[in-house]
Amino acid sequence: MKSTPNQLLDYRCRLGSPTSLGRSGVSQMYHLNVLEGEGHKILQELFPQLKDKLLNEYDIHEAVQLIVDQSLNIVKDIKYRQKHHVDSSSIDLYGDFIINCTGRNTSSVKWLKESFNLIVPAIQIHFGLDYVTFIGERFKTGDPSLDSKHIIGYALNAPDKNAGFGITPIREIKTMDENSLGALSILLLQCVNYEYPSNDSYENLLEWIKEKLDPEYYSIFKSKKVCSPLVSYRRMIDDRKRVGQLGKKWPQNYVLLGDAICTFNPTYGQGMTHACRQARELRKIFQENCHKLKDISHIFNRRASAITEECWLLSTTNDWKTLTLKIIKGDPEVLTRFV
Ligand SMILES: Cc1cc2nc3c(=O)[nH]c(=O)nc-3n(C[C@H](O)[C@H](O)[C@H](O)COP(=O)(O)OP(=O)(O)OC[C@H]3O[C@@H](n4cnc5c(N)ncnc54)[C@H](O)[C@@H]3O)c2cc1C
Repeated sequence: MKSTPNQLLDYRCRLGSPTSLGRSGVSQMYHLNVLEGEGHKILQELFPQLKDKLLNEYDIHEAVQLIVDQSLNIVKDIKYRQKHHVDSSSIDLYGDFIINCTGRNTSSVKWLKESFNLIVPAIQIHFGLDYVTFIGERFKTGDPSLDSKHIIGYALNAPDKNAGFGITPIREIKTMDENSLGALSILLLQCVNYEYPSNDSYENLLEWIKEKLDPEYYSIFKSKKVCSPLVSYRRMIDDRKRVGQLGKKWPQNYVLLGDAICTFNPTYGQGMTHACRQARELRKIFQENCHKLKDISHIFNRRASAITEECWLLSTTNDWKTLTLKIIKGDPEVLTRFV
């Protein structure tokens, strides 16, 4: 990382303007994200220039509507407008094949209903997960065996362990304070079962830590200097749109991919790899060179659903153990309004 500590803090903590980086509705960007090795490999294969692009370019357009031919059951086009100018007139973008990868808050379900009166079957599982993340400087606790560990964590495991945490160093810092461990770390506190950490002040958060975690871990947090706001993320659910069940009712030339199809409990670090695997599968379908364009969305939906199913089983089998589990099935647009 070439950024200075100040740039890093500014990047992660500009809470007033989370859209300034062009990623609205993606508050997970403030949290620590783990990318599985397989996901990283696929990203490198699919996008060799990714690193340069990530550093140098931000997309600034927002898709706002589908343009369709109802009688042919085809998506032909999307309307988009400049993201930072809500009043700007929209522009039509024609494409032979449209991939909607607009993430967990995708409007796609709403658009499909408006355009085709298509209701996408869905299921949501709520398990009361919360992440509170912040950046801090670690200081000596007096226990050398703890202080010598740079990465420390304690995993959630409902129903017995409903609270957990993770500490990961992100940057060395120069300091004159001999009690400092000389690094900025990301500190993450997690819970399930709605046993939410307090995020209104660090004092209250410490009380929660004292109650929920072992005393030795409490001592790490107690001796910490907090360098950023406490960022909370509470809207994490397993949320699956069962696109595969719709068969040929699904429109041609249009697919959802990644979180737009399914979000998972992030504790298991599957989300990015799920999206990468689906992207690779889509490329494979095109490379097979034997499918008609009109069939590709249906073929992809079947194969993408198989990938989602594997990840879904991993997340939900474990989440199933949460005592206050809430399961909701039906039309996703209605679901999100009532939850
Ligand atoms: C707190 C938290 C922690 C997580 N930790 C991990 C982890 O450790 N490991 C892991 O693998 N996954 C993790 N995930 C999940 C991971 O973030 C997602 O699975 C992954 O980002 C999905 O990628 P995506 O491309 O489908 O969607 P996103 O990354 O959400 O990207 C969607 C993009 O579409 C843009 N967009 C939205 N609407 C429009 C529109 N109308 N027009 C144009 N653009 C639009 C958004 O601004 C965004 O840039 C975590 C999630 C959360 C919430």
